[in-house]
Amino acid sequence: GEKTGYADLDYGAVTIEKIQAPNAPPPSSTLVFGHSFSDHMVTANWNSLTGWAPPAIHPYKPLVLDPSSVIFHYAPSLFEGMKAYKDVNGRIRLFRPDMNMARLNRSATRIALPEVNGKELTKLIAKLVSLDADFVPSEPGHSIYIRPTLIGTQAALGVHPANEAMLFVILSPVGPYFKSGFKPVALEADPNKVRAWPNGTGSYKLGLNYAPGLQPQMEAATRGYSQNLWLFGPEHLLTEVGTMNLFTAIKNDKGQTELITAPLNGLILPGVTRDSILGLARDHASGKMRIEGLPEDLIVSERELSMKEVEQAGKEGRLMEMFGSGTAVVVAPVDRIGYEGRDIHIPVGEEGVGPIAKRMLDTINDIQLGRIEHPWSVAI
Ligand code: PMP
Repeated sequence: GEKTGYADLDYGAVTIEKIQAPNAPPPSSTLVFGHSFSDHMVTANWNSLTGWAPPAIHPYKPLVLDPSSVIFHYAPSLFEGMKAYKDVNGRIRLFRPDMNMARLNRSATRIALPEVNGKELTKLIAKLVSLDADFVPSEPGHSIYIRPTLIGTQAALGVHPANEAMLFVILSPVGPYFKSGFKPVALEADPNKVRAWPNGTGSYKLGLNYAPGLQPQMEAATRGYSQNLWLFGPEHLLTEVGTMNLFTAIKNDKGQTELITAPLNGLILPGVTRDSILGLARDHASGKMRIEGLPEDLIVSERELSMKEVEQAGKEGRLMEMFGSGTAVVVAPVDRIGYEGRDIHIPVGEEGVGPIAKRMLDTINDIQLGRIEHPWSVAI
């Protein structure tokens, strides 16, 4: 092609500045999700004329940005969430990083930020995690959460595509979401609160999608619900929850179990965990890879599901199970939905988690930790 002087993100050009006085990783028992960070971070700057400057790995530190930077005014900001795990042999593994890179680039395009070479960014992330390997906890259920972020930084007021941007990656050691057994979550489904709409931005991982959910979440909490179940449209379709996709298991009139999640129609974030659960469920259903303990005749559906159908199934004793899915938690059982002044109860069994959610959690954990060999798990 034409020689333009525009540079791609290049792992080979990285400069590494190590911290002078390394910090001791926090004791695993004290970890609170997203509250402590490792010693180093990645940054890379972009401008529209020359492209990506050489990336840097350097000590974790505050950013210095001009108050006129567009990020503070018009919210050109996106992020990803992924995890690295220490396997049984002490090797560090990523889970489906290609999915996060692809989603990051879809998000970037949607808000006119530059695309990032996903292969190069994955190498930068692998290097950063290796450098901070002491911060990757090895206790069961622990991992390090990886937060790649891309923001528009151009220092000028005015709504236009940013001609300068910054990519950074930080790492946060995390413990298991459910520390002592499963604690099912209660959801509030209020049709008057809307998270996303057709052809909107709900299917992109943009910062601007999250702030508007805070006040509804606070209100739900005052009534004893921990998260909002976002409904859509006159039929009150179930879409997703907080930072999780949602799965519902319903028995049909033939006695078969149907595992249902919302379709990718622009109203939900295409979750990596969602995709993984669908893949595992379909492999089980087709016989390609059976998962012991899942219903033999499982039907897997990406389709619309209304509150009416959920409530009807509940009344007829056919509502088997409901759970959220996301990187932070993997699966979160749901035991109750507040809807139009009443509560719909969902069975969670004695363990506080239904059989499908439990099998999915165990299988995904086994893949993440390399106990099951699977192409989704990438050793670094
Ligand atoms: N929905 C929303 C709105 C989210 O923020 C997340 C977290 N990224 C998810 C679903 C779950 O996605 P994933 O499985 O990729 O973490």
